[in-house]
Amino acid sequence: MVDRLVNSEANARRIAMVENCFGSSGQPLAEQGRVLVGEGVLTKMCRKKPKARQFFLFNDILVYGNIVINKKKYNKQHVIPLEEVKLESLKDEGQYRNGWLIRTASKSFAVYAATATEKEEWMAHIEKCIEDLLRKSGKQPPSEHAAVWVPDNEAAICMHCKKTQFTVLNRRHHCRKCGAVVCGPCSSKRFVLRTQSEKPLRVCLHCYDRLTRDKTRTPRPLPSVAAAAAKAAGDAAGSGGESSQDDDSDDEDERPAVEDKHDEPKFYSDGEKTEDTENHSSKDSTDSTK
Ligand SMILES: [Zn+2]
Ligand SMILES: [Zn+2]
Repeated sequence: MVDRLVNSEANARRIAMVENCFGSSGQPLAEQGRVLVGEGVLTKMCRKKPKARQFFLFNDILVYGNIVINKKKYNKQHVIPLEEVKLESLKDEGQYRNGWLIRTASKSFAVYAATATEKEEWMAHIEKCIEDLLRKSGKQPPSEHAAVWVPDNEAAICMHCKKTQFTVLNRRHHCRKCGAVVCGPCSSKRFVLRTQSEKPLRVCLHCYDRLTRDKTRTPRPLPSVAAAAAKAAGDAAGSGGESSQDDDSDDEDERPAVEDKHDEPKFYSDGEKTEDTENHSSKDSTDSTK
């Protein structure tokens, strides 16, 4: 079915539209064999709070961006190769419903759909694309994935020492290995996590201990917490407010989530049919039998 779509004019038109909406803030998306499979708004869990993001599912990449003007203008484009993606369904929890994790080696995050049906649709379409890709390339899905960051407001105190209260001065930091929210002294260590960066990244003392133990396989004495605290205090004073600069790059936008008028996601299961006539047939027939 996808093969038929490849040369379809409608597909080319849709991709051009996406490129257009990102303008110069995005990269060219039209490519031989690339098909736009679906699009819609999902709520992405960011560091501070959940935010509405526009998602575009292609047969080989997942693209998302901030919504500047609904359906017209997007920016802060992110492109994730689907070959690296692993999905993980999330259980509903309080206000966080219809969610799942999008995990890659370098970045992992949670997204939420408006309804259970939309979640199902999104996950099924993404899984199908990944499956097709891996089958074609013969590659193995990646085995290691970046940690999902615990949102700031879920931790009032450091998740490592369980003592430090976070304030304007005692800023929150995220361990790049486990995603925990920890205080400066409890994340004074750095470790190279190759799947994420060549540069040493902030890790909590617990992960640092484990990582160094795994690496050397010889037990090492833990640096005293007091020494680490003193060092971190020095670091923090030197770098001044570092915690916000290593945020998600798309996290700064303070625009409220667009939720009042919900648009259902569109999936282009068959590009040649018109979009408004194909959808209801199956639903209607099951309903009318009752
Ligand atoms: Zn701490
Ligand atoms: Zn950690």
